[in-house]
Amino acid sequence: MSNPIKEVYDGFKSLVTGMRITIGEFFKPTITVQYPHESLKMPARFRGHIELVRDPETGRAVCFACKLCERACPSDCITVDGAKLEGAKKKSVTLYQLDFTKCSLCGSCVEACRDGAIRFSREFNLASTSKDEFVMDLFKRLEAEREAAEGTNRLAVGSPSEKVAVPAPAPATAPSVPAPVLPATPPATSTPPVSTSATTPPPAASGESK
Ligand code: SF4
Ligand code: SF4
Repeated sequence: MSNPIKEVYDGFKSLVTGMRITIGEFFKPTITVQYPHESLKMPARFRGHIELVRDPETGRAVCFACKLCERACPSDCITVDGAKLEGAKKKSVTLYQLDFTKCSLCGSCVEACRDGAIRFSREFNLASTSKDEFVMDLFKRLEAEREAAEGTNRLAVGSPSEKVAVPAPAPATAPSVPAPVLPATPPATSTPPVSTSATTPPPAASGESK
């Protein structure tokens, strides 16, 4: 048979224990991050999708399309192409396509690149309902960012991060602004510019009205 006094004691003890934990947590610093208005600082070893490294001197990709990373990828998600520019000793990358839907972020490609031409990005915010959005041309994106920085952006890119990174080019003219509606003026050859005074009576005609 249960003892009602013991039950009340156990209930009270449980209540005090719970309140002690609750009050203790109440005075601890807040760790909630108000995403998406705030975001955590990514740790140094965070792995976003790979990205091409830019040569700080030329502003262009370090990659010279040797395809070592393409061969090292176990998921077959890298496609590299390049061409030798006139006068250049090495090839230059012209296509660096990453199919991020297949990437396991294993790092084999980064390790295979002996020139440090690729690295893991800090991008953590990718989201889309279309798989096509995650097939990205990293070379095109790098060039678009460079051209945008120089104000000569011409390339159209498709991944979510690319869309954010590349501002729309400024139109050469302003077609969206309607032309101002000017008052109808007679041909300049027949009358002087004072034709706009039609709203005010000419002084010479005042004698006729009397
Ligand atoms: S991280 Fe691994 S799976 Fe992803 S592209 Fe590189 S080698 Fe391929
Ligand atoms: S990223 Fe590195 S390994 Fe891959 S093609 Fe370019 S230079 Fe070669």
